[in-house]
Amino acid sequence: MKTLITSFAIIGLSAQLASQEVARQSFFKAPTGSELIAADLHIHTVFSDGNVWPTIRVDEARREDLDLISLTEHLEYQPHKRDIPNPDRNRAFELALRHRKEGEQLMVVNGSEITRSMAPGHINAVFIEDANKLMVDDAREALVEANRQGAYVFWNHPQWEAQRKDGIARLEPWHDEVIKAGLLHGIEVVNDLTLSEEALQIALDRNLTIMGNSDVHGIADWQYEIPEGNHRPMTFVLASERSPEAIKAALKAGRTVVWFNDLLVGRAEHLASVFEANLRVEPLKYEVSPLIARVVIHNDGAQDLTLRYTGPYTFHAHTNMFVVPAHGSIELDVKTLESLEKLDFPVLVENSRVAPKTPASLSLKVTK
Ligand code: ZN
Repeated sequence: MKTLITSFAIIGLSAQLASQEVARQSFFKAPTGSELIAADLHIHTVFSDGNVWPTIRVDEARREDLDLISLTEHLEYQPHKRDIPNPDRNRAFELALRHRKEGEQLMVVNGSEITRSMAPGHINAVFIEDANKLMVDDAREALVEANRQGAYVFWNHPQWEAQRKDGIARLEPWHDEVIKAGLLHGIEVVNDLTLSEEALQIALDRNLTIMGNSDVHGIADWQYEIPEGNHRPMTFVLASERSPEAIKAALKAGRTVVWFNDLLVGRAEHLASVFEANLRVEPLKYEVSPLIARVVIHNDGAQDLTLRYTGPYTFHAHTNMFVVPAHGSIELDVKTLESLEKLDFPVLVENSRVAPKTPASLSLKVTK
């Protein structure tokens, strides 16, 4: 086990040294043919009701190895305006963009939060061209203008207890209409410290993109205990390439997986592709006995995965529920009763959701 970890570390180091690019961490391996873009598209600064300067948001995101952020200031809620009059609602974005280093991994796109009482509640428009043009009386008109600018638009925290006392996300006729009109493309299933399985169901029913964002107002390290090994809520976008246009297209096509605490949430096909890229099995061996198979599963991702085996066999030293540690592995001795050439190994990933109360399922193929 120790040898394995050491050799992994050496491989990791040499790969880093071989790379001409700036060394970057990745949270999970991307499925073949995709880039996995770590994004937080809901962030505040002092230019609305946040408590830090825009440059700090860029520094935080860089330290956390994010690929994409948007500062989404409330257009209509400006509690710091006595100190920061902010007549140009693009200003936070401009300061952040200027602070970004040429050629660095982190991308910054312009965004805004259209801030109304329910309905509609709060709606983010990102990849916008001019935030000032979104400041119109009618919220629907703001969405029309955002779409005219080519924006990707999503409903924020539909479960927010300030607007939904029971914490249950529900569509209002207003949302129904803008979804049908193609003006609203996504919905936050995760916001800050909360998760909404009802919002997940709405995303599935209405073909909205599943989003998870921080909505951070204070210091990210303090809010999410990042120095202690945790992470902010984020959305992984399965994009065809690492460019704003490709990322926007993937968002509009619904290709996302959300990471919240130890949980991964997404559409079944997207979660399966991420798990398949990050769970590797070693060739099937019979070592303990000719009737007991040794199955070794590696987890190349940054999240411990709790797997529940749903096949017919029992194990020699584990129950059917076990954890494959992040950047680690587990050895399972499977009592197959005969010597097999190949073993189908069906599992549920218990710390994932593809629908309310429903974990992702996949079948690992173990062959000699
Ligand atoms: Zn917000």
